[in-house]
Amino acid sequence: VNQQHTSGHTSTKTRLLIMGPPGAGKGTQAALLAGRLRIPAVSTGDMFRALQHADTPLAVQVRAVMAAGGYVDDATTNDIVTDRLGATDCADGFLLDGYPRTLSQVLYLDELLAQAARRLDAVICLRVDEEEVVQRLVARGQMSGRVDDTPQTIRARLAVYQEQTAPLLETYRARGLLLPVDAMGTVQDVAERIALELDGHAALDLSILPTP
Ligand code: AMP
Repeated sequence: VNQQHTSGHTSTKTRLLIMGPPGAGKGTQAALLAGRLRIPAVSTGDMFRALQHADTPLAVQVRAVMAAGGYVDDATTNDIVTDRLGATDCADGFLLDGYPRTLSQVLYLDELLAQAARRLDAVICLRVDEEEVVQRLVARGQMSGRVDDTPQTIRARLAVYQEQTAPLLETYRARGLLLPVDAMGTVQDVAERIALELDGHAALDLSILPTP
């Protein structure tokens, strides 16, 4: 019932998360993988970055939270995710990047999926060395001008990640969903490791396109 046939391949309706500390390369890998799986990458960070330019009280609040390296409140975050996952292009699967980040978001997502009789298929966890992460983010901040990539904000974001988000990995591990991937090395190397992990995940039957 949950499968469709496309050119001889069985393609599952795939619902994935990608997690990992700031600077692990989530956004880059999410975009690549989503393309290979033909599902949308849904990044709450991108949605908040788009939203912060608006001239609304919410935009002002999001801008302040992001500039300080904190998390946007759960209610606001859950709302934008609910809207986005309700769009038709997410009906056949999605790759969530940067959500959930708090226990309350994990529980909310569980409920949202359960209401639609859906569940997560796997959670990719990118693992990096923290020193390397700081260096990557400082370099990115210099190149992109991202306001939350200053050394001070990076430290704040890593601390918030360690405190609020890292413990969530255990929840997904306990459910048998966690796929840890070494995220050190080139974008290509990491992309291949992710594809290998997904291929080896017994519960999934994916057709992953080659990298472009
Ligand atoms: P990212 O691009 O995923 O690193 O997100 C950039 C910033 O957006 C974060 O530092 C947070 O301020 C905010 N943000 C993104 N996703 C979430 C989330 N799931 N919960 C709360 N805040 C978020």
